[in-house]
Amino acid sequence: MRTASDYISRRAHGVDASGIRKVFDLAAKMKDPINLSIGLPDFDVPEPAKQAAIDAIRAGHNRYTQTQGIAPLRERLRKELSAEIGRDVGEVLVTSGVSGGLLLAILATVDPGDEVVFLDPYFVMYKHLLTMAGGKAAIVDSYPDFRFHADRVEKAVTPRTKLLILNSPSNPTGVVMSEEEVRSAVEVAKKHDLLIVSDEIYEPFLYDAARGLPSPAKLYEKTLILRGFSKSHAMTGWRLGYAAGPAEVVAQMTKLQQYTFVCPPSPLQYAALAALDVTMSEAVNAYRRKRDLVFERLGRRFEVARPSGAFYIFPRAPRGTTATEFVAKAIENNVLVIPGNVFSERDTHFRISYATSDEKLAQGCDVLCSLAK
Ligand code: PMP
Repeated sequence: MRTASDYISRRAHGVDASGIRKVFDLAAKMKDPINLSIGLPDFDVPEPAKQAAIDAIRAGHNRYTQTQGIAPLRERLRKELSAEIGRDVGEVLVTSGVSGGLLLAILATVDPGDEVVFLDPYFVMYKHLLTMAGGKAAIVDSYPDFRFHADRVEKAVTPRTKLLILNSPSNPTGVVMSEEEVRSAVEVAKKHDLLIVSDEIYEPFLYDAARGLPSPAKLYEKTLILRGFSKSHAMTGWRLGYAAGPAEVVAQMTKLQQYTFVCPPSPLQYAALAALDVTMSEAVNAYRRKRDLVFERLGRRFEVARPSGAFYIFPRAPRGTTATEFVAKAIENNVLVIPGNVFSERDTHFRISYATSDEKLAQGCDVLCSLAK
């Protein structure tokens, strides 16, 4: 007779979420921790977007929308993205978060055995989505500077490689690819005929860029851009993102969306339209200041690469200790951070999210520095 576990697919068994679960279990035991682990902004959804969501619900926008999302939102995103990228980016697909876009992108392009290259450290989901799709992750070490080294990436490319996933600004390092690095990534992609999937969810959070985000889409048409509203407008629970890229890829993603997510949340698409009229520069300026604060304080005790975007910093745990051991010590001292092995094949660094109050941030940094003596 089959037990319940006999019904579980190899696909589900293949996904190991134990790393992050252990952190959550530890966190659950903490009373009022200095929490530097949260991957979302510490401000709330802007008021006009909230009001637009309420108005949309009252106006009856509660039914399915077109699978690809409502026309006014798609048109607006297409116009703005095209102006930024410098060419028409084509049809935009509104997705259920960037997570939804990533899943559809991988389902639409990766066959079992196909290989996908991305840098280590990486956003956790890439690895697991590939496992679900039967694809193979070819993970390229980018320590200690977390930059894109074309020679290392090329070594990981084989005839089975189909995609190169880039994530700039990066979760968990906060590193932003320079124009030079983007150019070299595009050269690798061109040489080996790869599709670039560019996860640009942290695009609004740029602290040192004079000319906006260097996106590979500006240089290479075979780029699928994934962006979203979760981080930019603090609406992680609203599940809204969007994808733009080669027409055939977006069309296949749309087909797959029809039989999975069906459509993105209807009233919230109207709210997203209102959110686009809100400038978020105040929040970005506040985070730039927090970045400076945290980099300056941690720099006194830790080896750490200077982040230029997102709201993460990824210092090295003191030598002689694993990140897991160091994080356990931090948790004993009421500071919650995430060990690097959640995002990496290595267990040497830890992730801090500085999207919190200056006071908590300063306290947390002081505790971490005292533990690193
Ligand atoms: N990509 C990266 C790099 C992320 O950090 C996240 C969220 N933590 C996502 C994608 C997914 O975000 P969402 O599904 O909320 O849009």
